Amino acid sequence: MTQKKQFAPQSLLAQGSPCLQQHHTNDKQSLIPPVYNSTTYLRDEDNQYRSGRVYSRADNPTYKAPETLIATLEEAADARIFSSGMAAATAVFLALKPGDHVIAPTIMYWALRNWLRTFGQDFGLHVRFIDTHVEGAVEAALTEQPARLVWLETPGNPLWTVSDIAAIAQSCKKHDALLAVDSTVATPLLTRPLSLGANLVMHSATKYLNGHSDVISGALASAEDSAFWQRIVALRAQNGCVPGPDDAAQLLRGMRTLHLRVRESCESALWLAEQLQENPHVAEVLYPGLPSFTGHEVAKRQMHNGFGGMLSIRLKGGAEQAIKTAARTRLWKRATSLGGVESLIEHRASIEGEGTPVPDDLLRLSVGIEYREDLLRDLEQAFRS
Ligand SMILES: *Cc1c(COP(=O)(O)O)cnc(C)c1O
Repeated sequence: MTQKKQFAPQSLLAQGSPCLQQHHTNDKQSLIPPVYNSTTYLRDEDNQYRSGRVYSRADNPTYKAPETLIATLEEAADARIFSSGMAAATAVFLALKPGDHVIAPTIMYWALRNWLRTFGQDFGLHVRFIDTHVEGAVEAALTEQPARLVWLETPGNPLWTVSDIAAIAQSCKKHDALLAVDSTVATPLLTRPLSLGANLVMHSATKYLNGHSDVISGALASAEDSAFWQRIVALRAQNGCVPGPDDAAQLLRGMRTLHLRVRESCESALWLAEQLQENPHVAEVLYPGLPSFTGHEVAKRQMHNGFGGMLSIRLKGGAEQAIKTAARTRLWKRATSLGGVESLIEHRASIEGEGTPVPDDLLRLSVGIEYREDLLRDLEQAFRS
């Protein structure tokens, strides 16, 4: 499916097309590909399905452009979009077999961690949570007990811990484990996990890929057209965890400005991190772009063109001050989620609930594309008042 990448990602994204010409067969010559709101497809008179399409639970032609674009950006053999990031992520785990061992990070997207601990374990997976961001931790864990699959999330929500994809990929190869990376926060523009040796990359397309907080969707891309990948493809068709065609079209539209949004968010996040580090109300700024950040050296190696639009701050006044600060912001909106054009602020421990590894003095900031000095001023007044 991947087209030879003759053009830079910016050009591919702006055109919404990996091949820039004839990205869809379209007899009306429309610039934008049509949306196919059809659940079913006509059978040929001789009882064949030469179009290759039967029913939209399995696939829909509207998916082709966003999927090809994602596959090309990720340098993947193939990609599929899903009804949500969770649908994409859990498709990987459900394609394993009961009894399989899995390694996952201690610091990761909370809903997926919960799923692994409940439905994942009920399904029969043996899940070990380890500090994948600590050098050598995955190698040691695989040596102690083999695993079928290692799951990484880097930078990891919401402490932005950075796991060394290339080093961990080597360990996975040595120990015959698959490597899957949740690259939602990095986006395909900052990190290419497959080129670093991962087998699969996952995105919550709800976040940066769509970028406008109006579509729930997910994506998986695979380095190879392997038997395991075909199992995932079959699982999507049979479980029906597909997006609606309108959402797929909206996702493609969102992706056309991905490079502009990500660049602005990264620049603002770095600038805010530097400014907030100097603020007397702030105890600590967690951001992979800061030289003082533990994972900075690895981030410099595996992240290009920026360190992402996500950062967290820990407040000197503890949980109470954190919650009050979030209550007083006006430009920053109090809401969960990330990667949209609007900046969001969240007291993360409140939403994660009991058992969270997130400190209760922490605020998670998703930096949008507003004027960055307004964003800083809004936080400063919220700290003070
Ligand atoms: C949001 C998110 C998910 C889940 O995606 P949904 O689209 O909400 O299902 C998974 N991983 C990360 C890092 C996320 O931010």
